Amino acid sequence: MGYLAVMSTSKTGPKTAGAKAGTTAGTQAKAARPKTAPKTAPKTASKNGPKAKAAPNSASAAPSPERAARADVVAGRLAARYPQVGPALHWRDPWELLVATVLSAQCTDERVNKVTPGVFARWPGPAETARAAQADMEEAVRSTGFFRNKARNLIGAARLIMERHGGAVPRTMEELTALPGVARKTANIVLSNAFGVHEGIAVDTHVKRISFRLGLTDSEDPLVIERDLMPLFARERWGDVNHYLVFFGREVCAARKPLCGACELADVCPRRGVR
Ligand code: SF4
Repeated sequence: MGYLAVMSTSKTGPKTAGAKAGTTAGTQAKAARPKTAPKTAPKTASKNGPKAKAAPNSASAAPSPERAARADVVAGRLAARYPQVGPALHWRDPWELLVATVLSAQCTDERVNKVTPGVFARWPGPAETARAAQADMEEAVRSTGFFRNKARNLIGAARLIMERHGGAVPRTMEELTALPGVARKTANIVLSNAFGVHEGIAVDTHVKRISFRLGLTDSEDPLVIERDLMPLFARERWGDVNHYLVFFGREVCAARKPLCGACELADVCPRRGVR
């Protein structure tokens, strides 16, 4: 079976099927979910891998009408720009997505996609990974960075999945974030893309930066940002919102040189923090 590639289609790339954005603030358009999973996100890792296991129990209070209206415009335009989005990571089942997402911390998706075929061939699932030697796994994932902790976390997660979940990747936020190396962002990506479960919005560096610039949040704390974003978008679009902002962050609203002059959101963007 071939890999389910992660992808986006944009004005600058090939177009495919259409997914439409909906928001809780305005008209909610239903969109066909991509056959592949949505794209992942960037990377918040430390020496121990992604952190912040605590999860927002609920969304923030109702947003202001102005913020809600802006989110509506953002969702609509980015849905038009990216009619089909999905993770750029290559994966075929929930375990592979979990592994790829863990490895993507502080690493490019391209690098991860070069590494994972070898990892999946040698250790196809949790059962095999649980028996992997730390040194062997370290060597296999070395080029993704933070390889000692990533290797330890992957083996530890596999063992826990074997012990507690019968070898199946769990489908709840609580169970996923109990796994070594799996914080809320990673759990959101796995839940949304592998299981179609929308517990929250994965906040990576792109989501964090663009949400602030667009005035969709006043915070720079990922957990607060997630709580702020959740009421702005229809729940079934939460996974796509992550993908929209990740791709938009790579193509237009870059960290250092955002292309505001060519941005389709310029008329609604307060450009907070942009000089
Ligand atoms: S106008 Fe500039 S800051 Fe605002 S979303 Fe577009 S590129 Fe980003």
